Amino acid sequence: MTATAAKDGLVLSDVWISTCPVCDSSLAPTRYVVHRVPIRQCSQCNHLVGAISEQAHSEANLEWNKDEGTWPKSIRRLERRRLRTLRQAAVLLGRKMKGLRLLDVGCSNGSLLDIALRHGLDPEGVEPAERAADDAIRRGFTVHKGYVESLSGSYDVITTFEVIEHLRDPLPMLSACYRLLVPGGILVVGTGNTDSWTFRVLGTRWDYMNPGTGHINYFSSHSLSRLAERAGFRLAKISTRAVSFRNRDQPGYRFWKLISQSLAIPARMLGKGEQLEIFLRKPYADNSIG
Ligand SMILES: [Zn+2]
Repeated sequence: MTATAAKDGLVLSDVWISTCPVCDSSLAPTRYVVHRVPIRQCSQCNHLVGAISEQAHSEANLEWNKDEGTWPKSIRRLERRRLRTLRQAAVLLGRKMKGLRLLDVGCSNGSLLDIALRHGLDPEGVEPAERAADDAIRRGFTVHKGYVESLSGSYDVITTFEVIEHLRDPLPMLSACYRLLVPGGILVVGTGNTDSWTFRVLGTRWDYMNPGTGHINYFSSHSLSRLAERAGFRLAKISTRAVSFRNRDQPGYRFWKLISQSLAIPARMLGKGEQLEIFLRKPYADNSIG
C-alpha cells in the first residue's frame, strides 16, 4: 500500500483508528496535538480520538501491568466515591447492595473488589494485565485473567472504570458486558468527560487527554450513551463530578483550585464535571443486535 499523508501530517497507513469507534463516520483533523499525537474528531458525532500508532499505544499500556496496579494511596477516599456509585446501581436495580453479583472489568489489583466485599456484595474481577491480576489473586480476590469478551457467567452489576478510553474498539467490550448481565442488570462506565468545563478551559493540557498514558478515545455523555445503545443498552442515569482549571505544575494553581471547588456543585448539576459515570440498563426484553 502506498503511504498517503493526511491533512494533519500523519501517514494514513500508520493511523491505527481510521473511523469513529462510536458511529463509524470519518475522522477529521483538529487543532489539538498532544505530545506530538494529533487528535481527530468525528464529522458526525464529534467524538474525539488520539491518532496514535498501534506500537506507541501498546507501549503506553504496558505501564499498567505492574504489581502495584492502581491501588490508591487512600482507599477511604475511593471508597466514598465508589460506594455512592454502587448504591446508585442498587437503587436502579430496586435491590439492596448486599448479595449483588458484581463484575469489575479492568479491576487491576482489586481496590473496587475490596470495597465491594466489605459492603456485602459478591464481587469478581477481570484483568488482562497479568502482574496486576496476580497481585489481586494474592490478596484473595476472584479475578479472571484476560478480557471480558472471553468470560461466561451472570452478573447483576458490571462496573468498568478508566478502561474504555484505552480501547481501540470499545463496542465488543460493551457487548460482552451486555451478554453477561441479567435482564434489567446495570452497567456503570466511568471515564473522562469532554463536555466538561475542565476540557473547555484546559483543552489538551487536561491530563486525561494524554495518549502517552494509553488514552485514545475521549468521550462525552452523548457519544458514550450512543455507543452503548449500539450494544443494546438503555441509558438509566448520567452523573459527572469535579472541575479543574489548572494543573498542579501551572502558576496560580492554588487560586484556581478554590474557584474549581466553588464550581463543583453547579458542574455536577449541569453535567459539566470532568469525571463521567454513565449507568446503563440491559432491558428486560433483549435489544442487542445479532
Ligand atoms: Zn462518530
